[in-house]
Amino acid sequence: MRKYLTLQKDYTIKLQSQITRYSSPKYVYVPVSKEDPLLCKKEVLKEEKLTNFVVSPVSGTITGSKYCMDVNGNLVSCLSILNNYQENFFHRTAALKDLRKVPLEKYIIDLEEHLCFDIARKLRKVNQNSVLILNVVEDEPYVANEIFINKEYTNDILSVLDIMREKLMVCKTMIVVKNNDRENIVSLEDKLGTYTEMELCLVPDYYLIGQEPFLSEYFQIREECILFTPSELLTIMKVVQKKRYETEVIFTVSGNGIKNPQIMEAKVGTLVSDIFADCIKIPKESKVSYVFNGLMKGKTGILEHLIVTKDLKSILVMKEECLEELECISCGKCVSVCPVSCNPKRVYDKGDLKDASRCIQCGLCSYVCPSHINLRKYLKGEKNDGRTS
Ligand code: SF4
Ligand code: SF4
Repeated sequence: MRKYLTLQKDYTIKLQSQITRYSSPKYVYVPVSKEDPLLCKKEVLKEEKLTNFVVSPVSGTITGSKYCMDVNGNLVSCLSILNNYQENFFHRTAALKDLRKVPLEKYIIDLEEHLCFDIARKLRKVNQNSVLILNVVEDEPYVANEIFINKEYTNDILSVLDIMREKLMVCKTMIVVKNNDRENIVSLEDKLGTYTEMELCLVPDYYLIGQEPFLSEYFQIREECILFTPSELLTIMKVVQKKRYETEVIFTVSGNGIKNPQIMEAKVGTLVSDIFADCIKIPKESKVSYVFNGLMKGKTGILEHLIVTKDLKSILVMKEECLEELECISCGKCVSVCPVSCNPKRVYDKGDLKDASRCIQCGLCSYVCPSHINLRKYLKGEKNDGRTS
């Protein structure tokens, strides 16, 4: 049995109860690769394909190009599009499809055509021996995207899950929720009466429990588990039923450095600094740092030139603490906590990366280290330049 750990959290950090929609940026900046042919077309429509893998999130005018930053800290070349606020779509909205009547192969084709390759890949993998899991668990502290999405769209999500269950002919369908997520538990219990083939399964607030293989081991499932998040099921609905592209992203803005933690929805390509200027309150006197995509697994960075991309999950604004890295005191905590039996201390002491291939970059060793050593970076083979958690 794996070792599970409950992370200590600051329960004074509370999210606003509604998703904030930031839907009218003046400009969006759409990443295009340098090899893409220069677009001479000036006017674009919403969801118009700009290159093979990029659609416009707004209707408006291409005004030039600019370098922006993605959530991984990479500078990316982007087209600047001036929003005309008309939301004129490239495709006329087709009649809504009855999802139950669409063959599974068509789901996969539609998802691939709409650039949702990961979801299409998962659908291809499912077979009659698979366990289908709706995963409403967020592992990272203070991140709650899927929890909010499930709460807001429970009916749609259950309906798509039921259709998937029928189409994929899986052996079992589970909905996994943390046992401290009262609102989703109540909402799901209320609605599951009509979906008798689905089982609501509660898990403790353990770090990593939302990940395969931790989840399958916790429930002792031997069959292959295919996990879908609430947002992935909504995407299936949007793409297959409505033929829409994903042009909005939902992410958490939270942390002890802001006054109003919240879940945000914004268009791909929106400048994060615009969102912060309009919606996020940081006390003037505060010195804060920004952590992207999770305290445990994410990395620190700056807001300047950062744009919303599909892989943006969270921005945590944390009061700066003086966590000076101290000498290793050989306490062994990092070794005992590792869920995949790596020896982070050996990697740190000797630079021996033999163990590193097993590392899943969960960040637990850095989290428990009393000397504030960023062991995760050593495991990545990177030079240490400061902790993220
Ligand atoms: S980051 Fe890697 S070495 Fe550290 S606890 Fe997680 S898996 Fe183990
Ligand atoms: S947890 Fe930190 S102090 Fe303890 S053995 Fe590991 S590296 Fe050294």
